[in-house]
Amino acid sequence: MVIKPRGENVELKLLRLLRVRKRLEEKDENNYIYLEKGKFSEKLFDQYLLGLTNEFLILNNLLLEVNNTLFQIDSLLITQKKIFIFEVKKHEVDFYIVKDRWYMLSGKEIKNPLIQVIRSESLFRQLLQELRFSVMLDLKLFLSTQNFFSMRLRLKVHLYFIRQLGRLLKNLDSYDAPRVSGGHMRLADKLVSLHITDNPYSRLPVYTYEELEKGIICQRGCFHLEDTNRHTLVCNKCGFIEDKEAAILRSIEEFRFLFPEKRITVDVIYNWCQVIRSKRLIREISSKNFELVLFGRGSYYVDKKR
Ligand SMILES: [Zn+2]
Repeated sequence: MVIKPRGENVELKLLRLLRVRKRLEEKDENNYIYLEKGKFSEKLFDQYLLGLTNEFLILNNLLLEVNNTLFQIDSLLITQKKIFIFEVKKHEVDFYIVKDRWYMLSGKEIKNPLIQVIRSESLFRQLLQELRFSVMLDLKLFLSTQNFFSMRLRLKVHLYFIRQLGRLLKNLDSYDAPRVSGGHMRLADKLVSLHITDNPYSRLPVYTYEELEKGIICQRGCFHLEDTNRHTLVCNKCGFIEDKEAAILRSIEEFRFLFPEKRITVDVIYNWCQVIRSKRLIREISSKNFELVLFGRGSYYVDKKR
């Protein structure tokens, strides 16, 4: 049972929207690639978790705090006997380990991910103590890479490949109780309430309205849709066809996400969408889907009151 879904990755969404409209700096582009790959591993991971038959509690992407220290947990699985901390290392490069040091095949040393996950486990243990909840903790680190070599490995944490998760969960299903107690349920609710939504770790790129290329982005990410007939727009790169109203609304949502402080007016949307020739159509669609706040020439749209 998923108690806390992963939620939207705001950082990834922002980078996806920006990179078709401007050239990202190298570090932002690398961060984008890292996040996309991570998303793929997470999807795979979640599919396995959904295969559980016992009613365990699943909490994804937690950002918690204990003694003024923040820590993140990829996935928490609460069963009757144990709490599992699952961390996914989203390395796409092949690597090997000698003693406690991690290296890429080229010989370049990389950050040992175990240090981070052991720290998270220790902080989570402190948090459980604070909440007066005593339970066995089990930490497992998953690797998304296929090739991995270990030499003289003495690890306290079990390393797995994501594809081994299926077997691990199957064992849990047969050895643990089918349901968790009310106390476990209350703990899960408590953890969700403690989750911090504003992630101070995310490094969002800086951008301005002026530097972004305007236009309506094809849903497949190719960029400009063309205004070819009355009701639809078409991507001249991949041929994707979208209903005009849906495309305009999608663009308004993107604009609001990128510039939450700016007001939505007919002129602003006209300029943002670029390819829509009729201002009247933009006005019609905006009036239908939003509420107009009258302010003379500066009238603007807000969400409809429910
Ligand atoms: Zn396209």
